Amino acid sequence: MQDNMEAFQEAAKLDLGRPYVETKLIEIGPVVAEAKIAFERVDKWAAHDRLPFDLAWFPLKPTVRKEPKGVVLMVVPFNLPIWIAIGPLASAIAAGCAVAIKPSELTPHFGALLAELLPKYLDPTLYTVVNGTVPQVGALLDLQWDHILYTGGGRVARIILSAAAKTLSPVSTELGGKSPCIVNSDCDLRLAARRILWGKLCNAGQVCTAPDYVLVQRDFAPKLVDAFKATLQEFYPGGAAKSDSYSRMINHSHFKRVQGLIESTRGHIVYGGGTNEDTLFIEPTLVLNVHHDDPLMQEEIFGPALPIVLVDNMDEALEFINSRDHPLALYAFTRSSEFKEKVANNTQSGAISFNETIFHAAVDGLPFGGIGASGSGWHTGKFGFDTFTHLRAQIDAPGWMEFILKGRNPPYSEEKAKA
Ligand code: NAD
Repeated sequence: MQDNMEAFQEAAKLDLGRPYVETKLIEIGPVVAEAKIAFERVDKWAAHDRLPFDLAWFPLKPTVRKEPKGVVLMVVPFNLPIWIAIGPLASAIAAGCAVAIKPSELTPHFGALLAELLPKYLDPTLYTVVNGTVPQVGALLDLQWDHILYTGGGRVARIILSAAAKTLSPVSTELGGKSPCIVNSDCDLRLAARRILWGKLCNAGQVCTAPDYVLVQRDFAPKLVDAFKATLQEFYPGGAAKSDSYSRMINHSHFKRVQGLIESTRGHIVYGGGTNEDTLFIEPTLVLNVHHDDPLMQEEIFGPALPIVLVDNMDEALEFINSRDHPLALYAFTRSSEFKEKVANNTQSGAISFNETIFHAAVDGLPFGGIGASGSGWHTGKFGFDTFTHLRAQIDAPGWMEFILKGRNPPYSEEKAKA
């Protein structure tokens, strides 16, 4: 990664119209850190575990062996290809697995670069890249795998899981969904606006953990909108279209999808709404007073439109969240410890962050994964190592134990079994 930093940045620029700095911040930096951590800690992670002393079992020397699962398939989405392909690759190498990586056909520059570079650095008989579209994935899924790590949307996840069922290949699914962001009236407003919009507008909203929508108390909403507008002015003083710090939509189909959502919303567009299909540009767009049945509230937006849902109180916000699929991430901006506890104790999500968005994925030592419709399984750090590791139980029974165990042998008798 370090040798080829600029080539990866350029690939992301060509595939996603993404600024170099953003690629370094959200993909290359975290991946390099993850690879270093795996390298430094692999001996500790891979050491077999002897169980704590137990009088009943110690003669058997019970041990948990950490063994590679075997050959892994990674199916990668378009939005964070470096982070999703190379981070888990480091974990799989640490676990001792061989890997085939299937990049998204929507990131052809990344796919070609990876296919060119991987054999220069890793044994090509163990680590390989398969570029292609649906037929190639179909052919890969006809094979039996020792683990499949699928990252992408729920629709394709169902296809992958059905195919994997035929070969009994185990699958982790890293999916997305609508990650809510609660803004409580007691929050630090300027900080909240800055952190929500940073998380929302990174990669033009095409981040799996991006805050999808905001829940805010009706009477506090005007202040929040003002703070959002001030932040947008600060982030993009000449407008996002002219900024060199703002990404583009991946392709025309996603551009049209998000444009369609903005055009069909029944909410009130209070900022943005501008688009340019030639450059796949969608302006940061704030939509106020969006209802649960609005087009913007049906699917993960995966673009720079931020619906603001108004509630009368925070209990209503929690009910709103709980009436939907468990999200990949849940965000709450508040100064109140009681409210933080209340949100954490009364909701479920892959991760929960207070007074921050999307950053938890980079924190060393935390698992990254969803729950329910947002996925199952984890990657990053030790959790990635565990995903690709088989925990093989081992005992080594000494002959002298026959003295104790003989009561289990036929012919059975109550008397022998008691002994
Ligand atoms: P996608 O589901 O369209 O594609 C993902 C991968 O599946 C690609 O490699 C693609 O080639 C392959 N694929 C597409 N159609 C297929 C089919 N019919 N059969 C077999 N394989 C097929 O996802 P995407 O649009 O590339 O990525 C966006 C989604 O990924 C969002 O929902 C986002 O939230 C999610 N995501 C999740 C994480 C996470 O770690 N949880 C990270 C990034 C993105």
